[in-house]
Amino acid sequence: MMSVLNGKVVVITGASSGIGESTARLLASLGAHVVIGARRVERLESLASDIQGDGGSVVIQQLDVTELEQMQAIISAAQSRFGRVDAIINNAGVMPLSSLEALKIEEWNRMIDVNIRGVLHGIATGLPVMKKQGFGHFINIASIGAYEVTPTAAVYCATKYAVRAITDGLRQETVGLGIRVTLVSPGVTESELAESITDNQAREFMKEYRRNALPATAIARAIVYALEQPVHVDVSELVIKPAM
Ligand code: NDP
Repeated sequence: MMSVLNGKVVVITGASSGIGESTARLLASLGAHVVIGARRVERLESLASDIQGDGGSVVIQQLDVTELEQMQAIISAAQSRFGRVDAIINNAGVMPLSSLEALKIEEWNRMIDVNIRGVLHGIATGLPVMKKQGFGHFINIASIGAYEVTPTAAVYCATKYAVRAITDGLRQETVGLGIRVTLVSPGVTESELAESITDNQAREFMKEYRRNALPATAIARAIVYALEQPVHVDVSELVIKPAM
């Protein structure tokens, strides 16, 4: 049976690795047109070549979500190529963990810029388009860290609490506009996310913590579940954790 996602246009930020990459592959395999962005263009090119090799439809766009104009450019690329935007997956994120007392202020700022401002830029550019269309779906990627703070993760969790708050507010404000809003909160998942940790204490903690990680496909399937629902069904929040 053909997927309901066949022909849908889905923009994915942070699609060069991990959850974003896996989601792009799954959506393309279901017939969606995926418009993928990240800073590492060579990774996007390689992913696009895989997707096209499997008969999928993909557009790549270099993207730094902290730059509003670049977010506008990827949405414009989707519109000009396909004439619509069915969904935006605000997935790009960074996680250079450390304790507050380490005073890694540049890393705090980077997390705030990418994890919060990046999501806001996705909303700022996507919302007017979806309002005009009368349909659309935001999927914002938070974390189990949006519900509970863990050691060395105060700032990272703060950014994810913020994503959860923003997503909730967006859902409240878009009631009746044909726009759906989903928060997806993964538990520990295989990806490159922990590679940006420069703090030794946080690195050691994460090594242990990540032993029991989910495959990124588990999160991709949760995202697809939310996207596949009929238009009158809003999957508001999904939390996905390793079973053991
Ligand atoms: P990865 O590090 O594998 O992927 C992160 C993606 O974000 C990459 O594609 C990276 O691409 C992109 N990115 C980073 N900074 C920017 C930027 N400024 N502009 C555009 N893209 C950017 O990790 P995950 O797949 O795990 O992370 C995806 C999301 O899932 C994040 O929001 C993360 O917080 C969240 N999450 C992950 C969990 C996990 O255990 N893996 C658990 C809970 C939540 P590039 O460097 O090429 O720009």
